[in-house]
Amino acid sequence: MYEAKSNPICLIPVNFTLFSHLNKSAADNILFLFTNARSTQYAPGDTGPALVSLLKQIKERPPHVDILYNKQTIYCFDNEAFRFAVASAPPNNMIFDDLLTRDYEVSWMGSVRECDRLMERIISLKPHQVMETLSLNNAKQSILLLTQPLADIAKNISDNVKACEQHKKKVSEFKGNITEFEKELYVPWKDIESDPLNEPKTVCNEGNCIVKETINGTVKIHYKTDCHSPCYLTHSDGNVMGNVGLLDCIAFNKYESIGEGEWRVPTNLVPDQNVTLNAEGKAFLYYLERTKSDNCFKCGHSFQSHLHIKYETRIVNKKIRDEKKYKSINTAKEAAAAKQAQIVELEARIKELTDENTTISICMAKFACFLSNNALTPFNDAFEGYVKDAGKLSGGDSKVTIDKLQQMLDRYKYEKDAILAAMKKGKKNESAVSVEDIDKLIKQLCSLKVNGPAISQLLDTQIKSKAKSHTFNEKVINTVSAATSKLSGFRVY
Ligand SMILES: [Zn+2]
Ligand SMILES: [Zn+2]
Ligand SMILES: [Zn+2]
Repeated sequence: MYEAKSNPICLIPVNFTLFSHLNKSAADNILFLFTNARSTQYAPGDTGPALVSLLKQIKERPPHVDILYNKQTIYCFDNEAFRFAVASAPPNNMIFDDLLTRDYEVSWMGSVRECDRLMERIISLKPHQVMETLSLNNAKQSILLLTQPLADIAKNISDNVKACEQHKKKVSEFKGNITEFEKELYVPWKDIESDPLNEPKTVCNEGNCIVKETINGTVKIHYKTDCHSPCYLTHSDGNVMGNVGLLDCIAFNKYESIGEGEWRVPTNLVPDQNVTLNAEGKAFLYYLERTKSDNCFKCGHSFQSHLHIKYETRIVNKKIRDEKKYKSINTAKEAAAAKQAQIVELEARIKELTDENTTISICMAKFACFLSNNALTPFNDAFEGYVKDAGKLSGGDSKVTIDKLQQMLDRYKYEKDAILAAMKKGKKNESAVSVEDIDKLIKQLCSLKVNGPAISQLLDTQIKSKAKSHTFNEKVINTVSAATSKLSGFRVY
């Protein structure tokens, strides 16, 4: 079908500009193969400038990857000589005139030369470690899955530290009788419970798109604008707010069908579609013209305020209390001892929680450095944004929580800057965070005494749901569309 068009064709994966599935070392091994190049004298023709502008975008955006585009990486072929060979050989035995035959001969020779050149180039390339990319992707996925939950947990820890401090004050200043005093002998615990949604959706976290409710002194966000629900994004990076993966959501795309639809086996689908197959495994499909936008077509806010959610969380106030320990307080002396013991317990809890938040800050800082060093895509530093957002939401005497979150962010930034500075100084290899380090850090997070079980559970469920989603998308850039406009011109099938 493509052969019918007169321009050279180069198939580019749909995520080419994002490179979310490759690491930097793969960039040197990218080659551009053009077919159908006879009409342009075995050169990329008008497709070239479209590609050059795409590569320029990648280079200009952090992490500034320079993808070689020159004679060494460009290969132009033509398939018509092959068609000629098939047509003129038995059983087809078609006869062509001399002029055409010579033309095809030249075309054949040209394509053979290009093939030889291509093979030579491939042999000369240093093999890219596919396993490296795979394990790198796994590490990246885990980090992205953990980012928002960890910010939520960090906020929750700060809330809990605050509750413990308030309760410690209450216990130490307590003046009532023994029966009333016994009721105060507990450690407060605000637990995050999550309710899975029936179907995932893309929501907005900005301004009039949310309402804040205060329940038992804790502020909860309700996302009232469903920008796309149910959302069928399968490769969006989890619940990470503002992740570029969201740009594939229908909330940021308009599709216009071109021509008549037809029943086809679905391949090269545009993202975020729910396709129903008939008995033959075919679906009714259209060719589409895609218009992308950074702002939501539904609510108008930027993709950076949006997130894809699979569950909603709520805070449950609990009391941790050892009934046996406080069963028999009869005298004032026993009460004084119990008071002291309770204060010690609360202090231990406060320290434990504060230490866990420090561990989370350090891990997140290392995660951020790992992502910015390894991915070809710029990493959206979502953690900081989430923590700040969580701080804004604190109700009541929120200053305490905000201060605690700020301390945590300071620590996070300090660690991150330290690693990045060391990397800049050229000590890249010793200071860089490796895939193995990421594994260790995740294990460390999962083994945290208070919040570890919640973190490992989160990771488990999210990894399971992720495993189901593997899609393959391709987009075709051809000169017809590339000439019209920058983004809307890319036709996606
Ligand atoms: Zn909005
Ligand atoms: Zn969507
Ligand atoms: Zn929206």
